[in-house]
Amino acid sequence: MSPSTTHHPLSTILVTGGAGYIGSHTVILLIEAGYDVVVFDNFCNSSRESIKRVEKIVGKPISVIEGDIRNRNDLRLAFNTYAVDTVIHFAGLKAVGESVEQPLRYYDNNVYGTVALCEVMQEAGCKSIIFSSSATVYGDPATTPITEDFPTSATNPYGRSKLFIEEILRDLYISDHDWKVVLLRYFNPVGAHPSGTIGEDPNGIPNNLMPFITQTAVGKLSCLSVFGDDYDTHDGTGVRDYIHVMDLAAGHVKALEKLPLFHEVMTINLGTGTGYSVLDMVKAFEKASGKEVPYCIAPRRAGDIAKCYADPSYAKKVLDWKASKDIEEMCEDSWRWQSNNPNGYTA
Ligand code: NAD
Ligand code: UDP
Repeated sequence: MSPSTTHHPLSTILVTGGAGYIGSHTVILLIEAGYDVVVFDNFCNSSRESIKRVEKIVGKPISVIEGDIRNRNDLRLAFNTYAVDTVIHFAGLKAVGESVEQPLRYYDNNVYGTVALCEVMQEAGCKSIIFSSSATVYGDPATTPITEDFPTSATNPYGRSKLFIEEILRDLYISDHDWKVVLLRYFNPVGAHPSGTIGEDPNGIPNNLMPFITQTAVGKLSCLSVFGDDYDTHDGTGVRDYIHVMDLAAGHVKALEKLPLFHEVMTINLGTGTGYSVLDMVKAFEKASGKEVPYCIAPRRAGDIAKCYADPSYAKKVLDWKASKDIEEMCEDSWRWQSNNPNGYTA
């Protein structure tokens, strides 16, 4: 796509954080659906290599602006260069433990960054945003499955940054009903593009379960610590709603399609509706990969909850979207990515 000219009947989407894990997978589906895409990323937690690989998958170059969402001039460059209709806003820091140690950095990057983004969007007359929220905003839910009207709370600065941003975007809509706002609350994304060429590439030792499992299976880590086996769940280990990243990506394309029809802020769970325990995941992964995952039972991790899984029926109703990939495919695709790229994007 050449700057300032949109040759396609569909619109131009600015994808902040488009080089990251969920963003890169979403960019593929957006391009396949016919949208013009501009990636805006400062590469603080991703690499240009992911974009190169996405270009290979879609068979065409991708417009990229290297910039920071906290820098209004970087943002203005994006809006002045391209006729952006909608922003899909993935950019943010996401490590819970780090957010406890560096709260100001998290509020600056995530909250202030989103405020700056919305200000420049407003300046440019672009008033449509799809935001990456998280199931973490449900805190420790009283029951499961979780519907969107459950009370929200946060136990750490990362979760609080998501809650604050949700409220800021709701206030923005109250101030000006021309805004279209969709808040997507993701459950636990796992898996990778079926090509095995892009996937999750965490820095250092992974915090999340699936990359820890795959790095153990590939021999980079020696043993998985299962955080607690005395929860009130079917086998005592924590239960989560793991969702294939391609399903999650598809949810964004649906949200984009439906956006013009929405006349209120939409808050939508993206999950499968099924909960699996840590040990369920280990077993499923061993079956899909043929690799053993050595594990030991360790103490509970501070801040963890027993069970968290979605009621995904609202997403079905308003987005006509439903997750379609099962735990086997999640494990197979995670493994294909990890085994083909033992060091992620680093050669
Ligand atoms: P990721 O770290 O892989 O991707 C985030 C991208 O944003 C990275 O490419 C990073 O370089 C970029 N970025 C960060 N700060 C930026 C800034 N100030 N300016 C420009 N770019 C910036 O993470 P992900 O897993 O793809 O998550 C995407 C979004 O979804 C995040 O907002 C995250 O909080 C949210 N989310 C993720 C999960 C999960 O488990 N992965 C769950 C719920 C919600
Ligand atoms: N978990 C684990 N060992 C690990 C990482 C995670 O036992 O090394 C457990 C964790 O306690 C939780 C589940 O796996 O029950 C999912 O954790 P993750 O950090 O991936 O996602 P969360 O739901 O906590 O955001």
